[in-house]
Amino acid sequence: MTGLLAILGGEPTRKTPFPAWPLWDTREEDALIEVLRSGTWGIAADGGKIAAFEQAFAQAHHAAHAQAVFNGSVALEVALRALDVAYGGEVIVPAYTFLATATACLMAGAMPVFVDIDPDTYNIDPQAIAAAITPRTQAIIPVHIGGLPADMDAILQIAHEHGIPVIEDACQAHGAAWKGRRVGAIGDLGCFSFQSSKNINAGEGGAILTDDEALAERCWSVHNCGRVREGRWYQHEVLGGNYRMTQWQAALLLAQLTRFEELAQRREANARYLADRLAQMTALRPLVRDPRVTQHGYHLFITRYDPEAFEGLPRARFLEALRAEGIPCSEGYVPLYRMPAIQNGIRRLRAAFGRADAGESDLPNCPVTERACASEGIWFFQTMLLGTEADMDDIVAAVQKVQAGAGRLVSNSEV
Ligand SMILES: *Cc1c(COP(=O)(O)O)cnc(C)c1O
Repeated sequence: MTGLLAILGGEPTRKTPFPAWPLWDTREEDALIEVLRSGTWGIAADGGKIAAFEQAFAQAHHAAHAQAVFNGSVALEVALRALDVAYGGEVIVPAYTFLATATACLMAGAMPVFVDIDPDTYNIDPQAIAAAITPRTQAIIPVHIGGLPADMDAILQIAHEHGIPVIEDACQAHGAAWKGRRVGAIGDLGCFSFQSSKNINAGEGGAILTDDEALAERCWSVHNCGRVREGRWYQHEVLGGNYRMTQWQAALLLAQLTRFEELAQRREANARYLADRLAQMTALRPLVRDPRVTQHGYHLFITRYDPEAFEGLPRARFLEALRAEGIPCSEGYVPLYRMPAIQNGIRRLRAAFGRADAGESDLPNCPVTERACASEGIWFFQTMLLGTEADMDDIVAAVQKVQAGAGRLVSNSEV
Protein backbone atom coordinates (compact mmCIF):
# COMPACT_ATOMS: atom_id res chain seq x y z
CA MET A 1 0.00 0.00 0.00
CA THR A 2 2.91 2.34 0.64
CA GLY A 3 4.63 1.34 -2.58
CA LEU A 4 5.60 3.69 -5.36
CA LEU A 5 2.57 5.37 -6.93
CA ALA A 6 1.57 3.87 -10.28
CA ILE A 7 1.62 7.36 -11.82
CA LEU A 8 5.33 7.52 -10.92
CA GLY A 9 6.02 4.09 -12.40
CA GLY A 10 5.00 1.80 -9.52
CA GLU A 11 2.66 -1.19 -9.54
CA PRO A 12 -1.02 -0.20 -9.79
CA THR A 13 -3.25 -1.13 -6.83
CA ARG A 14 -5.63 -2.89 -9.18
CA LYS A 15 -5.17 -4.41 -12.61
CA THR A 16 -8.61 -5.95 -13.15
CA PRO A 17 -11.50 -3.92 -14.53
CA PHE A 18 -14.67 -3.23 -12.52
CA PRO A 19 -17.89 -4.99 -13.65
CA ALA A 20 -18.94 -4.35 -17.25
CA TRP A 21 -22.18 -2.59 -18.19
CA PRO A 22 -24.80 -3.36 -19.41
CA LEU A 23 -25.58 -6.80 -18.02
CA TRP A 24 -27.67 -9.00 -20.31
CA ASP A 25 -28.49 -12.61 -21.06
CA THR A 26 -31.13 -14.67 -22.84
CA ARG A 27 -33.87 -12.55 -21.26
CA GLU A 28 -32.84 -9.59 -23.43
CA GLU A 29 -32.11 -11.81 -26.46
CA ASP A 30 -35.48 -13.55 -26.32
CA ALA A 31 -37.40 -10.31 -25.83
CA LEU A 32 -35.68 -8.65 -28.82
CA ILE A 33 -36.28 -11.67 -31.07
CA GLU A 34 -39.93 -11.64 -30.03
CA VAL A 35 -40.27 -8.00 -31.11
CA LEU A 36 -38.46 -8.71 -34.39
CA ARG A 37 -40.73 -11.60 -35.29
CA SER A 38 -43.92 -9.81 -34.25
CA GLY A 39 -43.37 -7.22 -36.98
CA THR A 40 -44.64 -4.56 -34.55
CA TRP A 41 -41.60 -2.43 -33.82
CA GLY A 42 -43.27 0.85 -32.94
CA ILE A 43 -46.85 1.80 -32.05
CA ALA A 44 -49.03 -1.21 -31.17
CA ALA A 45 -52.82 -1.30 -30.94
CA ASP A 46 -52.64 -2.74 -27.43
CA GLY A 47 -49.44 -0.90 -26.50
CA GLY A 48 -47.40 -4.10 -26.66
CA LYS A 49 -44.24 -4.18 -24.58
CA ILE A 50 -44.31 -0.38 -24.20
CA ALA A 51 -47.57 -0.52 -22.24
CA ALA A 52 -46.33 -3.49 -20.23
CA PHE A 53 -43.18 -1.60 -19.32
CA GLU A 54 -45.12 1.53 -18.37
CA GLN A 55 -47.26 -0.49 -16.00
CA ALA A 56 -44.31 -2.32 -14.42
CA PHE A 57 -42.21 0.83 -14.06
CA ALA A 58 -45.05 2.85 -12.51
CA GLN A 59 -45.76 0.06 -10.06
CA ALA A 60 -42.10 -0.30 -9.08
CA HIS A 61 -42.00 3.44 -8.34
CA HIS A 62 -45.28 3.75 -6.45
CA ALA A 63 -46.83 5.89 -9.18
CA ALA A 64 -50.29 5.71 -10.76
CA HIS A 65 -49.17 6.47 -14.33
CA ALA A 66 -46.04 6.16 -16.47
CA GLN A 67 -45.50 7.56 -19.94
CA ALA A 68 -42.62 6.00 -21.85
CA VAL A 69 -40.70 8.33 -24.17
CA PHE A 70 -37.56 8.20 -26.29
CA ASN A 71 -35.04 9.52 -23.75
CA GLY A 72 -34.67 11.41 -20.48
CA SER A 73 -34.05 14.79 -22.10
CA VAL A 74 -37.37 14.71 -23.92
CA ALA A 75 -39.07 13.32 -20.80
CA LEU A 76 -38.24 16.65 -19.12
CA GLU A 77 -39.42 18.61 -22.15
CA VAL A 78 -42.70 16.68 -22.35
CA ALA A 79 -43.26 17.22 -18.60
CA LEU A 80 -42.76 20.99 -18.98
CA ARG A 81 -45.14 21.11 -21.95
CA ALA A 82 -47.67 18.96 -20.12
CA LEU A 83 -47.68 21.62 -17.38
CA ASP A 84 -48.19 24.27 -20.08
CA VAL A 85 -45.18 26.23 -18.84
CA ALA A 86 -45.40 29.68 -20.44
CA TYR A 87 -42.90 30.88 -23.05
CA GLY A 88 -40.60 33.27 -21.27
CA GLY A 89 -41.60 31.89 -17.86
CA GLU A 90 -38.98 30.84 -15.31
CA VAL A 91 -38.10 27.36 -14.12
CA ILE A 92 -35.90 26.92 -11.04
CA VAL A 93 -33.15 24.31 -11.50
CA PRO A 94 -29.95 23.42 -9.61
CA ALA A 95 -26.69 24.65 -11.16
CA TYR A 96 -25.08 21.26 -10.46
CA THR A 97 -26.69 18.74 -12.83
CA PHE A 98 -26.52 17.33 -16.34
CA LEU A 99 -27.08 19.79 -19.16
CA ALA A 100 -30.53 18.44 -20.10
CA THR A 101 -32.22 19.68 -16.91
CA ALA A 102 -31.67 23.22 -18.17
CA THR A 103 -31.80 22.71 -21.95
CA ALA A 104 -35.24 21.06 -21.59
CA CYS A 105 -36.47 24.39 -20.17
CA LEU A 106 -34.92 26.36 -23.02
CA MET A 107 -36.31 23.95 -25.64
CA ALA A 108 -39.76 24.50 -24.12
CA GLY A 109 -39.22 28.27 -24.29
CA ALA A 110 -38.70 28.77 -20.57
CA MET A 111 -35.80 30.43 -18.76
CA PRO A 112 -33.79 28.20 -16.42
CA VAL A 113 -33.07 30.03 -13.17
CA PHE A 114 -30.01 28.46 -11.56
CA VAL A 115 -29.80 28.09 -7.81
CA ASP A 116 -27.09 26.70 -5.58
CA ILE A 117 -26.79 23.26 -3.97
CA ASP A 118 -26.45 22.10 -0.39
CA PRO A 119 -22.76 21.53 0.51
CA ASP A 120 -23.53 18.22 2.29
CA THR A 121 -25.78 16.59 -0.33
CA TYR A 122 -24.99 18.43 -3.61
CA ASN A 123 -28.77 18.55 -4.08
CA ILE A 124 -30.72 21.74 -4.74
CA ASP A 125 -30.82 23.98 -1.65
CA PRO A 126 -34.50 24.55 -0.63
CA GLN A 127 -33.67 27.98 0.83
CA ALA A 128 -32.14 28.99 -2.49
CA ILE A 129 -35.36 27.89 -4.22
CA ALA A 130 -37.44 30.08 -1.92
CA ALA A 131 -35.18 33.06 -2.62
CA ALA A 132 -35.42 32.56 -6.40
CA ILE A 133 -39.21 32.50 -6.72
CA THR A 134 -40.74 35.38 -8.68
CA PRO A 135 -44.20 36.01 -10.13
CA ARG A 136 -42.86 34.45 -13.37
CA THR A 137 -41.84 31.12 -11.78
CA GLN A 138 -43.64 28.30 -13.60
CA ALA A 139 -42.04 25.17 -12.16
CA ILE A 140 -39.28 23.82 -9.92
CA ILE A 141 -37.06 20.94 -11.06
CA PRO A 142 -35.12 19.33 -8.19
CA VAL A 143 -32.58 16.76 -9.41
CA HIS A 144 -31.88 13.69 -7.24
CA ILE A 145 -28.20 13.96 -7.98
CA GLY A 146 -26.30 10.72 -8.28
CA GLY A 147 -29.46 8.96 -7.04
CA LEU A 148 -29.58 10.73 -3.65
CA PRO A 149 -33.14 12.03 -3.13
CA ALA A 150 -33.41 15.80 -2.67
CA ASP A 151 -35.22 17.15 0.41
CA MET A 152 -38.73 16.63 -1.00
CA ASP A 153 -40.44 17.74 2.24
CA ALA A 154 -38.90 21.19 2.13
CA ILE A 155 -39.23 21.51 -1.64
CA LEU A 156 -42.92 20.55 -1.72
CA GLN A 157 -43.70 22.87 1.18
CA ILE A 158 -42.23 25.85 -0.70
CA ALA A 159 -43.91 24.75 -3.94
CA HIS A 160 -47.33 24.38 -2.30
CA GLU A 161 -47.04 27.76 -0.55
CA HIS A 162 -46.62 29.41 -3.95
CA GLY A 163 -48.80 27.06 -6.01
CA ILE A 164 -45.87 26.07 -8.23
CA PRO A 165 -45.63 22.56 -9.73
CA VAL A 166 -42.60 20.32 -9.14
CA ILE A 167 -40.95 18.10 -11.75
CA GLU A 168 -38.48 15.64 -10.23
CA ASP A 169 -35.46 15.01 -12.44
CA ALA A 170 -35.00 11.39 -11.39
CA CYS A 171 -32.83 10.51 -14.40
CA GLN A 172 -30.14 9.25 -11.98
CA ALA A 173 -32.47 7.95 -9.28
CA HIS A 174 -34.14 4.71 -10.36
CA GLY A 175 -35.45 2.97 -7.25
CA ALA A 176 -34.40 5.75 -4.87
CA ALA A 177 -36.85 6.39 -2.03
CA TRP A 178 -37.67 9.28 0.31
CA LYS A 179 -39.38 8.20 3.56
CA GLY A 180 -40.24 4.82 2.04
CA ARG A 181 -41.74 6.24 -1.13
CA ARG A 182 -39.87 5.90 -4.38
CA VAL A 183 -39.04 9.13 -6.18
CA GLY A 184 -40.72 10.20 -9.42
CA ALA A 185 -44.33 10.83 -8.43
CA ILE A 186 -43.66 12.55 -5.09
CA GLY A 187 -43.78 15.81 -7.02
CA ASP A 188 -46.34 16.50 -9.78
CA LEU A 189 -44.26 14.72 -12.42
CA GLY A 190 -40.95 12.85 -12.44
CA CYS A 191 -38.57 12.08 -15.30
CA PHE A 192 -36.28 9.09 -15.81
CA SER A 193 -33.58 8.16 -18.32
CA PHE A 194 -32.59 4.73 -19.60
CA GLN A 195 -29.54 5.96 -21.52
CA SER A 196 -26.54 3.60 -21.67
CA SER A 197 -24.85 4.81 -18.48
CA LYS A 198 -28.00 4.78 -16.33
CA ASN A 199 -28.87 2.10 -13.77
CA ILE A 200 -31.62 0.76 -16.06
CA ASN A 201 -30.31 0.71 -19.60
CA ALA A 202 -31.96 0.40 -23.01
CA GLY A 203 -29.28 2.33 -24.91
CA GLU A 204 -31.73 5.23 -24.96
CA GLY A 205 -35.09 5.63 -23.26
CA GLY A 206 -37.10 7.73 -20.87
CA ALA A 207 -40.25 7.81 -18.79
CA ILE A 208 -42.44 10.31 -16.96
CA LEU A 209 -44.30 9.34 -13.80
CA THR A 210 -47.30 11.05 -12.26
CA ASP A 211 -50.20 10.34 -9.95
CA ASP A 212 -52.33 12.97 -11.72
CA GLU A 213 -54.57 11.48 -14.38
CA ALA A 214 -55.06 14.74 -16.28
CA LEU A 215 -51.30 15.32 -16.40
CA ALA A 216 -50.81 11.74 -17.59
CA GLU A 217 -53.23 12.42 -20.46
CA ARG A 218 -51.36 15.63 -21.32
CA CYS A 219 -48.04 13.72 -21.37
CA TRP A 220 -49.57 11.12 -23.67
CA SER A 221 -50.78 13.82 -26.07
CA VAL A 222 -47.56 15.85 -26.04
CA HIS A 223 -45.42 12.76 -26.65
CA ASN A 224 -47.67 11.56 -29.49
CA CYS A 225 -47.78 14.58 -31.82
CA GLY A 226 -50.57 16.24 -29.85
CA ARG A 227 -53.07 13.49 -30.58
CA VAL A 228 -55.96 12.81 -28.20
CA ARG A 229 -56.62 9.31 -26.92
CA GLU A 230 -60.06 8.79 -28.51
CA GLY A 231 -59.37 10.99 -31.53
CA ARG A 232 -58.68 10.18 -35.17
CA TRP A 233 -55.07 9.62 -36.36
CA TYR A 234 -54.80 13.06 -37.98
CA GLN A 235 -56.54 14.88 -35.16
CA HIS A 236 -53.85 16.94 -33.37
CA GLU A 237 -55.10 19.15 -30.55
CA VAL A 238 -52.09 19.87 -28.34
CA LEU A 239 -48.69 21.26 -29.38
CA GLY A 240 -46.48 18.20 -29.15
CA GLY A 241 -44.03 16.09 -31.10
CA ASN A 242 -43.05 12.51 -31.74
CA TYR A 243 -41.29 11.44 -28.56
CA ARG A 244 -42.50 7.83 -28.70
CA MET A 245 -40.52 4.89 -27.38
CA THR A 246 -39.96 1.85 -29.64
CA GLN A 247 -40.86 -1.75 -28.81
CA TRP A 248 -37.11 -2.52 -28.94
CA GLN A 249 -36.47 -0.20 -26.03
CA ALA A 250 -39.43 -1.55 -24.07
CA ALA A 251 -38.30 -5.15 -24.65
CA LEU A 252 -34.87 -4.37 -23.22
CA LEU A 253 -36.37 -2.41 -20.33
CA LEU A 254 -38.73 -5.20 -19.30
CA ALA A 255 -35.79 -7.60 -19.24
CA GLN A 256 -33.56 -5.12 -17.38
CA LEU A 257 -36.31 -4.60 -14.79
CA THR A 258 -36.16 -8.30 -13.85
CA ARG A 259 -32.67 -7.82 -12.41
CA PHE A 260 -32.98 -4.23 -11.23
CA GLU A 261 -33.95 -4.74 -7.56
CA GLU A 262 -31.12 -7.17 -6.96
CA LEU A 263 -28.55 -4.84 -8.55
CA ALA A 264 -29.93 -1.89 -6.58
CA GLN A 265 -29.45 -3.82 -3.33
CA ARG A 266 -25.90 -4.75 -4.29
CA ARG A 267 -25.05 -1.10 -5.07
CA GLU A 268 -26.53 0.00 -1.74
CA ALA A 269 -24.61 -2.62 0.25
CA ASN A 270 -21.27 -1.87 -1.44
CA ALA A 271 -21.79 1.90 -1.24
CA ARG A 272 -22.61 1.76 2.47
CA TYR A 273 -19.49 -0.30 3.07
CA LEU A 274 -17.36 2.10 1.02
CA ALA A 275 -18.85 5.16 2.78
CA ASP A 276 -18.18 3.58 6.20
CA ARG A 277 -14.58 2.82 5.32
CA LEU A 278 -13.97 6.31 3.90
CA ALA A 279 -15.59 7.86 7.00
CA GLN A 280 -12.87 6.22 9.12
CA MET A 281 -10.17 8.01 7.12
CA THR A 282 -9.22 11.66 6.70
CA ALA A 283 -8.95 11.44 2.92
CA LEU A 284 -12.36 11.84 1.24
CA ARG A 285 -15.68 12.93 2.72
CA PRO A 286 -18.73 11.19 1.22
CA LEU A 287 -21.92 13.23 0.86
CA VAL A 288 -24.28 13.15 3.83
CA ARG A 289 -27.26 10.84 3.66
CA ASP A 290 -30.41 12.27 5.24
CA PRO A 291 -32.12 9.65 7.46
CA ARG A 292 -35.29 10.23 5.42
CA VAL A 293 -33.48 8.73 2.40
CA THR A 294 -34.64 5.12 2.71
CA GLN A 295 -33.08 4.00 -0.57
CA HIS A 296 -30.24 5.64 -2.50
CA GLY A 297 -30.30 5.20 -6.27
CA TYR A 298 -26.49 5.20 -6.48
CA HIS A 299 -26.02 6.18 -10.08
CA LEU A 300 -22.93 7.91 -8.72
CA PHE A 301 -20.97 7.60 -5.51
CA ILE A 302 -20.07 11.24 -4.91
CA THR A 303 -17.43 12.17 -2.40
CA ARG A 304 -15.56 15.35 -1.50
CA TYR A 305 -11.89 16.12 -1.88
CA ASP A 306 -9.85 18.52 0.22
CA PRO A 307 -6.25 19.19 -0.90
CA GLU A 308 -5.36 19.88 2.76
CA ALA A 309 -5.65 16.14 3.42
CA PHE A 310 -3.25 15.48 0.52
CA GLU A 311 -0.43 17.93 1.28
CA GLY A 312 -1.89 20.47 -1.12
CA LEU A 313 -2.18 18.11 -4.09
CA PRO A 314 -4.69 19.58 -6.58
CA ARG A 315 -7.78 17.47 -7.28
CA ALA A 316 -6.92 16.98 -10.97
CA ARG A 317 -3.56 15.46 -10.07
CA PHE A 318 -5.18 13.27 -7.39
CA LEU A 319 -7.64 11.91 -9.97
CA GLU A 320 -4.82 11.16 -12.42
CA ALA A 321 -2.97 9.28 -9.72
CA LEU A 322 -6.08 7.35 -8.69
CA ARG A 323 -6.81 6.38 -12.31
CA ALA A 324 -3.24 5.19 -12.67
CA GLU A 325 -3.90 2.92 -9.65
CA GLY A 326 -6.72 1.29 -11.66
CA ILE A 327 -9.65 3.19 -10.12
CA PRO A 328 -11.98 4.99 -12.57
CA CYS A 329 -13.14 8.38 -11.30
CA SER A 330 -14.28 11.79 -12.51
CA GLU A 331 -14.23 15.43 -11.41
CA GLY A 332 -17.89 15.71 -12.50
CA TYR A 333 -19.81 18.70 -13.80
CA VAL A 334 -19.06 22.25 -14.85
CA PRO A 335 -21.52 24.87 -13.43
CA LEU A 336 -24.32 24.81 -16.00
CA TYR A 337 -24.62 28.59 -16.27
CA ARG A 338 -21.02 28.74 -17.49
CA MET A 339 -21.72 26.56 -20.54
CA PRO A 340 -21.84 28.35 -23.90
CA ALA A 341 -24.81 26.17 -24.94
CA ILE A 342 -26.86 27.44 -22.01
CA GLN A 343 -25.68 31.04 -22.29
CA ASN A 344 -26.57 30.99 -25.98
CA GLY A 345 -30.06 29.67 -25.23
CA ILE A 346 -30.64 32.25 -22.52
CA ARG A 347 -29.47 35.07 -24.81
CA ARG A 348 -31.86 33.99 -27.56
CA LEU A 349 -34.78 33.78 -25.16
CA ARG A 350 -34.01 37.17 -23.63
CA ALA A 351 -33.78 38.71 -27.08
CA ALA A 352 -37.15 37.20 -28.03
CA PHE A 353 -38.73 38.83 -24.99
CA GLY A 354 -36.99 42.17 -25.50
CA ARG A 355 -34.91 41.84 -22.35
CA ALA A 356 -31.34 43.03 -22.00
CA ASP A 357 -28.54 40.65 -22.96
CA ALA A 358 -27.06 38.59 -20.14
CA GLY A 359 -23.61 39.79 -19.15
CA GLU A 360 -20.91 38.36 -16.89
CA SER A 361 -22.40 40.21 -13.92
CA ASP A 362 -25.61 38.25 -14.44
CA LEU A 363 -23.97 34.94 -13.58
CA PRO A 364 -25.85 33.51 -10.61
CA ASN A 365 -24.12 33.41 -7.25
CA CYS A 366 -23.61 29.67 -6.55
CA PRO A 367 -20.44 29.32 -4.45
CA VAL A 368 -21.13 25.71 -3.43
CA THR A 369 -21.62 24.64 -7.06
CA GLU A 370 -18.45 26.51 -8.02
CA ARG A 371 -16.44 24.71 -5.34
CA ALA A 372 -17.96 21.28 -6.08
CA CYS A 373 -17.09 21.66 -9.77
CA ALA A 374 -13.70 23.35 -9.46
CA SER A 375 -12.01 21.50 -6.64
CA GLU A 376 -14.17 19.36 -4.37
CA GLY A 377 -16.47 16.84 -6.08
CA ILE A 378 -15.24 13.36 -6.99
CA TRP A 379 -17.36 10.71 -8.66
CA PHE A 380 -17.17 6.95 -8.71
CA PHE A 381 -19.61 5.20 -11.06
CA GLN A 382 -22.54 2.85 -10.45
CA THR A 383 -20.89 -0.08 -12.23
CA MET A 384 -18.04 0.01 -9.69
CA LEU A 385 -20.64 -0.79 -7.00
CA LEU A 386 -21.81 -3.97 -8.73
CA GLY A 387 -18.89 -6.12 -7.62
CA THR A 388 -17.64 -7.28 -4.25
CA GLU A 389 -16.49 -5.77 -0.97
CA ALA A 390 -12.96 -6.56 -2.12
CA ASP A 391 -13.53 -4.11 -4.99
CA MET A 392 -14.45 -1.44 -2.42
CA ASP A 393 -11.31 -2.32 -0.46
CA ASP A 394 -9.29 -1.67 -3.64
CA ILE A 395 -10.78 1.82 -3.95
CA VAL A 396 -9.91 2.54 -0.31
CA ALA A 397 -6.41 1.08 -0.67
CA ALA A 398 -5.74 3.20 -3.77
CA VAL A 399 -6.94 6.37 -2.04
CA GLN A 400 -4.73 5.57 0.97
CA LYS A 401 -1.77 4.90 -1.28
CA VAL A 402 -2.16 8.20 -3.13
CA GLN A 403 -2.59 10.00 0.19
CA ALA A 404 0.60 8.42 1.53
CA GLY A 405 2.49 9.38 -1.62
CA ALA A 406 0.92 12.82 -2.01
CA GLY A 407 3.97 14.69 -0.73
CA ARG A 408 6.19 13.05 -3.30
CA LEU A 409 3.64 13.77 -6.02
CA VAL A 410 3.41 17.45 -5.03
CA SER A 411 7.19 17.90 -5.19
CA ASN A 412 7.31 15.84 -8.39
CA SER A 413 4.74 18.18 -9.98
CA GLU A 414 6.91 21.15 -9.06
CA VAL A 415 9.93 19.78 -10.91
C1 LIG B 1 -29.09 11.43 -18.05
C2 LIG B 1 -29.75 12.64 -17.50
C3 LIG B 1 -30.71 13.37 -18.22
C4 LIG B 1 -31.04 13.11 -19.67
O1 LIG B 1 -31.35 11.83 -20.01
P1 LIG B 1 -31.01 11.28 -21.49
O2 LIG B 1 -31.76 10.00 -21.53
O3 LIG B 1 -29.54 11.11 -21.58
O4 LIG B 1 -31.53 12.26 -22.46
C5 LIG B 1 -31.35 14.43 -17.58
N1 LIG B 1 -31.03 14.78 -16.33
C6 LIG B 1 -30.09 14.13 -15.62
C7 LIG B 1 -29.80 14.57 -14.22
C8 LIG B 1 -29.41 13.05 -16.19
O5 LIG B 1 -28.45 12.44 -15.48
